[in-house]
Amino acid sequence: MSATIGNTGAPTAGDGWLEGVHAVASPNFGERPDDAVIDLLVIHNISLPPGEFGGPWVEDLFMNRLDPGAHAYFATVAGNPVSAHLFIRRDGEAVQFVALGKRAWHAGRSCWQGREECNDYSIGIELEGADDTPFTAAQYAKLAELTRAIMARYPAITAERVVGHSDVAPGRKTDPGPAFDWERYRGLLAGLEPAGEPRA
Ligand SMILES: [Zn+2]
Repeated sequence: MSATIGNTGAPTAGDGWLEGVHAVASPNFGERPDDAVIDLLVIHNISLPPGEFGGPWVEDLFMNRLDPGAHAYFATVAGNPVSAHLFIRRDGEAVQFVALGKRAWHAGRSCWQGREECNDYSIGIELEGADDTPFTAAQYAKLAELTRAIMARYPAITAERVVGHSDVAPGRKTDPGPAFDWERYRGLLAGLEPAGEPRA
């Protein structure tokens, strides 16, 4: 894999930016608490407009440039600064928006095993998708690859500490949704071959 960071600005590998991942630095982040140990990975899905894939809108949202006039739904989310560390498109291309060591704004009001404010101590990955639409083989492959790279940097993120947004914000969030195949993902993480033919 190329070590080149194909971006103009500050992001460099070793500074919390993953090698070989296209970097688009979002302003939507903050510092983690001084004593934060990064020990949780939160999996999400997002699509803009909901259920439509392939547009520039998610990147626009994370970069605070989503045009609220471009779609009726956009007015409901534009102006609310959010971000995730990583976004994986339907074709498996990944974009990194926030350095892993920084606090991205993905989980919102949240709690895991009695600890609130999951953004303080978690990394967030968004898959382009919707709760009831199967994710693509390319997305699972990239997600597993990125997860392994993240676990190598943050060994406190064990396989048991990879959760869904719906796990940390139950009743408020439903993503990554029932179409997300946890067994397939965990099998890839464990280095197992996916069973049968690609399912998406
Ligand atoms: Zn989410």
